[in-house]
Amino acid sequence: MNAGSPRRAELAARLLAVEERLTVACRAAGRERAAVTLVAVSKTWPATDVAALADLGVADFAENRDREAAAKAAQVPQVRWHFVGQLQTNKCRSVAGYASAVHSVDRAKLVEALARAAVEGGRTVAALVQLQLDRDQSAPARGGAGADAVPALAEAIAAAPGLRLAGVMAIAPQGEEPLAAFERLAAVAARLRADHPTADWVSAGMSGDFPAAIAAGATHVRVGTALFGRRPPVLG
Ligand SMILES: *Cc1c(COP(=O)(O)O)cnc(C)c1O
Repeated sequence: MNAGSPRRAELAARLLAVEERLTVACRAAGRERAAVTLVAVSKTWPATDVAALADLGVADFAENRDREAAAKAAQVPQVRWHFVGQLQTNKCRSVAGYASAVHSVDRAKLVEALARAAVEGGRTVAALVQLQLDRDQSAPARGGAGADAVPALAEAIAAAPGLRLAGVMAIAPQGEEPLAAFERLAAVAARLRADHPTADWVSAGMSGDFPAAIAAGATHVRVGTALFGRRPPVLG
C-alpha cells in the first residue's frame, strides 16, 4: 500500500488510539505494556490493511474463518497468524499450515485432529483451551468448553505431539459485567498454570472490553473494530 494512502493514515491513527488505551489500561492495572500482546483481528479486511499495520509494527493477526485466513496468510506471511474462530476438524490441516496459535480448542477431537495436522506439516502450534464463560450455557453457541472440561483438554494438548499448551481463551458473555467474567477466566487460568507453568497465555478482551480483560490479567487482547473500523454486517 502507498505509504501516503488515506487508508494507511486511518489505520495509523486507529493504531495510535488503541496503543493509548492499552497503555492507560496497563498502567491502571499496574502491569507493563510489554506484558500484553496486541492481536489485530483482521477478519473481513483486506490483506493490504494487514500489510499496512504490519508495516506500522503490529506483529500478530487473527482470523476466524479458515478460507479467508489461508488467503491472507499467503499474502502476508511475515506476521504471526492466530486462529480464533470455531474450528472444524476437517480444516485443521489447512489451519496448521499457517497458524502459529489456535485459541479456540474446545474438544478432544479437535486436539487430535490439530495435533495430527501439525505433525504432518512439521509444525508446532500453540494451542489454547477456549472456555465458555456464559452462565447460561444455552446462550448462542460461540464455542468453548465448560470449566469442568478444561483440565482434561489441557492434559490432552500437553501430551499431543505437534502442539504446545499455551493457555486459555474466552469471549465475554453478553449481558454480564465483563470484568466479572474475565475474573472467572483468570481463576481457570491460574489453576491451569498450577499444573502447566508454561501455559501462561490468557487471551481475552476485544475492542469494547479489553481494558477490563487487562485488569483481570489478559496477556493477549484480540482487537478488530477499534483498529480497522466497523465491519460490514455479515449475512446469516
Ligand atoms: C471478531 C473477533 C474479535 C474482535 O472483535 P472486535 O469487537 O471487532 O474487536 C475478537 N475475538 C474473536 C474470537 C472474534 O471473532
